[in-house]
Order: sequence, then C-alpha cells, then structure tokens
Amino acid sequence: MSTWDSKVVAITGASSGIGEATALELAGRGAAVVLGARRTDRLAEVVARIRADGGRAEPAEVDVTRRADLERLVALAVDRFGRLDVLVANAGVARIAPVAELDVADWDTMIDVNLRGVLHGIAAALPVFRRQGRGHLVTTVSTSGLKIVPTQAVYAGTKNAVRTLLEALRQESTDGSLRTTSISPGFVRTELVDHVEDGGQAQQAMAALGIGPDAVARAIAFAIEQPDDVEIGDLTIRPTRQG
Ligand code: NDP
Repeated sequence: MSTWDSKVVAITGASSGIGEATALELAGRGAAVVLGARRTDRLAEVVARIRADGGRAEPAEVDVTRRADLERLVALAVDRFGRLDVLVANAGVARIAPVAELDVADWDTMIDVNLRGVLHGIAAALPVFRRQGRGHLVTTVSTSGLKIVPTQAVYAGTKNAVRTLLEALRQESTDGSLRTTSISPGFVRTELVDHVEDGGQAQQAMAALGIGPDAVARAIAFAIEQPDDVEIGDLTIRPTRQG
C-alpha cells in the first residue's frame, strides 16, 4: 500500500481543465477523490473514468459561491472516506478587460468565485483539519498575480488575495497541523479563456503556447506527496516559452 492509498482529497472545479486533470492524476496514484463543480454531467464523466480504472471517486454538485456547498463537499469526504487530507481549492473564472470599462458584474463574479469561493473552502475544511491534527490546503492562483499586465487587474487581484490569505494562514498555523500551497500556473490549455471576450486572442495564445493541465496536476501531486513536515509553499509552472 502506497501513502497515496490513505489520502482523501477534495477538489473544486473538477469538471474540466486543471481540476479534472488533478482528479485523474491523484486517483490514478491511489487517492480517494471527492469532486465538486456545478456541471454534474461533466463530473459524472470524470468519476466514471476514475472508477473504470479501479479508482475511488465521489461527485458533488458544488457552487463555490455558496458556503453550504463547500460544507457538503467536505462532509461527503469525511462520511464516505473517513477523513479529509487535502482540499484543492481550484475553481476559478477569468474575465479580462481594462478597469475603465467598469464591468462590475464580472468583477463580482471573479471576487465571488476566485476569492470568496476559496474562503468558503477554508471555512469548511479548517475545522476538520484541526480535529484531525493535520491537513493541507492547495490553491491554484496564477502567474497573472506575479507579472502584472493590463486588462487582468481584478483577476490578478483575486489571485493575489488568495496568495496573501494562504501565507497568513501558514504563519498562523506553525503548530504543524496545516500545510498550505499556492500553485501559480502560467498559460494552461483549458476552457478558462472560452469566456474571455477579446475576439479569440486569448484562445489563440493559449492554443499556441499553453501547456497541458496534466503538468499542473503533477505539480499538485508533488506538493501533496511530501512528508507531513515538509511544505511546498509556492510553485510556478509555466510554458518554457512564456514571457
Ligand atoms: P476551466 O475553465 O477548465 O476550469 C474551471 C473550473 O472551475 C471548472 O471545473 C468550473 O466548473 C469551475 N467553476 C467555475 N465557477 C464555479 C463555481 N461558481 N462553483 C464551482 N465551480 C466553479 O479552467 P482551468 O482548469 O484553467 O482553471 C482552474 C483554475 O486554474 C482556476 O482557478 C484558474 O483561475 C486557474 N488558472 C488557470 C490558468 C490557465 O492558463 N488555464 C492559469 C493560471 C491559473 P463548473 O463550470 O462545472 O462549475
């Protein structure tokens, strides 16, 4: 039995892209995965693939903007598999435009999903981690927060807020009961930019340059598989040719 067989991991945004790839990667290594997202048909496909390969997976309809949904996701992990070792708070949306265009509805969506959604995950998972005496919080932030460019102010702002949140949590948790990891992907070929209204520019850049989501999934696995006394705090994964 490998150490992966005893791990229980909940993943938000598991219906596509990085979340889906992470679910497949971790379940393939032997972890039990509990998968949350709104598109239950897509989640069912991911769960079916994992189970067909002999893995353990449970789906949950989750909208991360609703705190109760995160409580249900965490409770499902504990009820079904007895514990929760890792929450991968990965669900996210990107809307890109200059601030002056005042796309206030898009700002609200990004704040609600990318920031409030992670806070809801923390609120649900922390009490379980404390009870167990151990737990690991992984988030997908972004290189957008590291290299500031026009049109991504609010998106990058939400990602940097999450980075700040995890660093503060880390400093508040030096009793060894919590590990925190912020993963910063660069261009990754997923559905993220499908909703970006820029005449297809983002989609073309992603298609030309983006790496596969499996690369990010392997980085997440690397952070999780470290011994309990080793924390991978920040990891950046970008295409070699990304500027
Ligand atoms: P995808 O669009 O493929 O995946 C986004 C996931 O988030 C989907 O599973 C979607 O599921 C879920 N999601 C969106 N809104 C909600 C919500 N309200 N409640 C629950 N789930 C939600 O894109 P990626 O895989 O690329 O994105 C994953 C994360 O990686 C995001 O946080 C993104 O910001 C980050 N990232 C991505 C990069 C890239 O280049 N692709 C670069 C840097 C960071 P559903 O719609 O079914 O609810």
